Amino acid sequence: MIVHVATNNRHKLLELQALFPSLTLRTPADAGLNNFDVIEDADSFAGNAWLKADALWHSLRRPVLADDSGLCVDALDGRPGIMSARYGSDGGPELAPAERNRLLLAEMATQSRRSCRFVCCLCLIVGPQRVFSVQETCDGELLGAPQGSGGFGYDPLVWLPDLGKSVAELSDGQKNQVSHRGRAAQRLNALLADLRD
Ligand code: IMP
Repeated sequence: MIVHVATNNRHKLLELQALFPSLTLRTPADAGLNNFDVIEDADSFAGNAWLKADALWHSLRRPVLADDSGLCVDALDGRPGIMSARYGSDGGPELAPAERNRLLLAEMATQSRRSCRFVCCLCLIVGPQRVFSVQETCDGELLGAPQGSGGFGYDPLVWLPDLGKSVAELSDGQKNQVSHRGRAAQRLNALLADLRD
């Protein structure tokens, strides 16, 4: 099945393609839809993933997939959460990931409660009445300083006690096994296998 992904980011498309080997993923631009953009103003990951998927569905009327993800820190009542990309930007341009990480570590400097989790919601619209939404997590502990050089975003800040590594110390394959996005994709792949029956 060809599925258009509600992103203009080729890197995200490639990352998702690795998680969905049975699908052929395309960008909105591949379908002639340039400058696809959605205001993500829902108050949850699932709400934002739905907004993106629904907007692309209405533009293309073909199968579409959207994702929304971020890092939730318990001591900060779930922040940065759905604001993860915009954390610290105060309505201005997004900060560089290293700057966001510094800011988050500073905000958490006096906190002993370090539990946190990555969250990812994936929303697949196969047809107007066939919508599948899955949300998964990857639980960890916020480190006191960045560790590891792989991955992206908040990866160097999140320690996975079961694996004894930060997320930025995992190989791509390991991250796909245990990450919020990888776990959500495993669930959606199970649904997709069922759909083809
Ligand atoms: P988006 O869903 O692609 O907009 O991601 C929101 C933000 O959450 C990103 O800019 C990252 O900072 C953060 N994020 C989402 N997934 C990950 C991940 O797997 N590792 C590290 N940071 C992530």
